[in-house]
Amino acid sequence: MSELVTARIRATAARLELPHLAANLAGHLARADAAQMGYLEFLDLVLEEEHAVKEERRIRHALRISKMPHHKTLDDYDFSYQPTLDPRKVKDLASLAFAEAKSNAALLGPPGVGKTHIAVALAVAACRAGYSIYFTTLDDMVRQLKAADAIGRLASKMRAYVRPHVLVLDEVGYQPLARDEANLVFQMISKRYEKGSILLTSNKAFSEWGQVFGDEVLATAILDRLLHHCEVIAINGPSYRLKNRLSAIADSALEADVAAAG
Ligand code: ADP
Ligand code: MG
Repeated sequence: MSELVTARIRATAARLELPHLAANLAGHLARADAAQMGYLEFLDLVLEEEHAVKEERRIRHALRISKMPHHKTLDDYDFSYQPTLDPRKVKDLASLAFAEAKSNAALLGPPGVGKTHIAVALAVAACRAGYSIYFTTLDDMVRQLKAADAIGRLASKMRAYVRPHVLVLDEVGYQPLARDEANLVFQMISKRYEKGSILLTSNKAFSEWGQVFGDEVLATAILDRLLHHCEVIAINGPSYRLKNRLSAIADSALEADVAAAG
């Protein structure tokens, strides 16, 4: 009898797409027995575990299709290496109020200070909290939009950049854009305005965006929408990429000094 019932529970669980329950029924029952669980407690355990497993699967899938270059977190970020950066500003963003408010954040500074790291960490946190996310560099987005436009698919490609709750727009300003390219960026920014968040990184000050977008009026129109609701975080410090190399160079210089002195 009980074998019949467990077989039926497994089959029903599979049909209801509760694979964790289907696969772990015996384990669940053993734990319920061992802990002498009541009905409510048991049902709670089964539902909680199923939900946790589904959440993990959703997050893994969302991260895979988000094109994030890595999945580093803010815990991986060493704030002591950037004393000019106020950790509270970043931690406030990590509350994800920005995603709820559909407002933006701009991380500005020279190469290697962790702009992409922080933007990705915030996006990954947003993903865990249930927001949809997507990563692109500005240049790649422009290339994709132009290619789509050339075959009459601009609108659908544009949606890929407009739809996600949180878009990481990395490396704004690395290459100057032609006018038609800048126009595509303007379209994207306008469509997202007050509809979704952008986390952008740039090595250029906003005052240089006229050169980046090849047109002061267009750059002003882009900045107007972008900055209306935007947390601006400037990181002006040493490159973390050079951290180990610089200390290695310092160490070998020291060794050379010691050798010379000896
Ligand atoms: P940026 O986008 O500003 O050029 P990245 O975010 O790509 O810099 O950082 C370069 C590398 O150094 C990455 O591997 C990043 O994880 C790491 N990194 C940068 N800053 C820090 C930091 N303060 N603590 C830990 N790792 C860092
Ligand atoms: Mg970067």
